[in-house]
Amino acid sequence: MDPLQVIYDRAPIPLQHAMTTLSGYQRNRSRYGRTYWQHREWLADFDGWSLAEKLEHQAAELRDFIRYATEHSPYYRRLYSTTDLDEVRTPENLGLLPIIEKEELRTNASDIYTVSRRWAVEGHTGGTTGKSLVVLMTRDDMMKRMAMLDHFKARVGFEHRKMRRATFSGKHIVPPGQNRSVFWRYNHACRQMLYSTFDLTESNLCHYIRSLNDFKPNAIDGFFTSMVDVANYIERHDIKLQFSPVAIFPTSETVTPSGRETLERVFRSKVYDQYASSEGAPFVTQCRYGSMHVELASGVFEQLNGTDNEILVTSFTTHGTPLIRYRIGDSMVIGEPTECRCGIQSPLVRSIEGRRDDYLFRSDGAKINAGNVANLFKNMPNSLVKAQLIQESMGDVTILLVVDEARYRPDDDALLLKEARHKFGATTRITIRHVDDIPRERSGKHRLIKNSLAARSDG
Ligand SMILES: [Zn+2]
Repeated sequence: MDPLQVIYDRAPIPLQHAMTTLSGYQRNRSRYGRTYWQHREWLADFDGWSLAEKLEHQAAELRDFIRYATEHSPYYRRLYSTTDLDEVRTPENLGLLPIIEKEELRTNASDIYTVSRRWAVEGHTGGTTGKSLVVLMTRDDMMKRMAMLDHFKARVGFEHRKMRRATFSGKHIVPPGQNRSVFWRYNHACRQMLYSTFDLTESNLCHYIRSLNDFKPNAIDGFFTSMVDVANYIERHDIKLQFSPVAIFPTSETVTPSGRETLERVFRSKVYDQYASSEGAPFVTQCRYGSMHVELASGVFEQLNGTDNEILVTSFTTHGTPLIRYRIGDSMVIGEPTECRCGIQSPLVRSIEGRRDDYLFRSDGAKINAGNVANLFKNMPNSLVKAQLIQESMGDVTILLVVDEARYRPDDDALLLKEARHKFGATTRITIRHVDDIPRERSGKHRLIKNSLAARSDG
């Protein structure tokens, strides 16, 4: 576990607020530099371009990016050695290049990286299969991604760092065993109140809402399921809200129509969905008229034939770990470009099927959502092939692991146990079992979480 986390866990709450702010300022340094501001300005201009101009720009970026990958990544140089890259002029020609599977990215990571760890910003992902991946991002790419996200939010009226933001976060801000009902920490660097998504129990929720009413956020973001839990509680208890945010931005989970309705009704605000991933995928963002726009400046989405609408991504902000025709494991239906009432011309996405709405129970009844579960494996660099968490009774969780023997270290089990205790508390019994394989579901998909308790209560 991160040594800073150990110090944090033992510190008094005021010092924890200060540490949260300090790491906020540190993170900001790699996020909001010159490239960020230049890109924000450019993106605002790009919104007004015609579709033809945008597609031409996208094709040019694609050619540059492929050239960059072959020049800087030994893996891509080898992979494309027999392909005439001059023929790959536009996204339509991408079929000439091979598809990169997740497992390939994991086993060849060190050959794919174009930058050394020292100069890179690391992105960790557990993902829907529990495969642990570390992608290295250059600072410029990181700043461009931040610019894209903030630009998307600014379009609908939220200006990051100028306005107050409440985040339902996967960070461990409440140490295990804390006996005060303070489930939030303030990151002054972003005017952001972080709320723990591990402690949303029936008896804690009133404290969350009191804090939200004090803080009066201009936007709420983070895990969708957690925000819906909060909204449901507010409605059930008929609590009066003393604020009305300009926008709600869910991340990393599938936005369901009923959950969206609940959020919009309870918070008297609008939900704006987005697609992006910690691996660095290109963006899809929702505009104020509800359309899901492909952000043509960020990369290329292809629909993979013969699958359940699976997509391949090529992302222009992955110079550190180039992703070209990468099979990311998500599905979406991409429609033809149309003119949207918001004035932005781009292809529109008709539906996104991302991470399932799965969760596990902590022994006190708090739900630990799929995003938080996937984060369990974040600190195991490229050593997990597959994982699955199974819950058959309250207070019991079994973790199945398929590991890469060459990379998995002997003390990784202990580390994982520690992480799991942080998420599930000391009263949940965690069992780790190493297996040769984890069978897929009848649908052919891998499931990260199998919770028979949830299946029963959902009917
Ligand atoms: Zn639009």
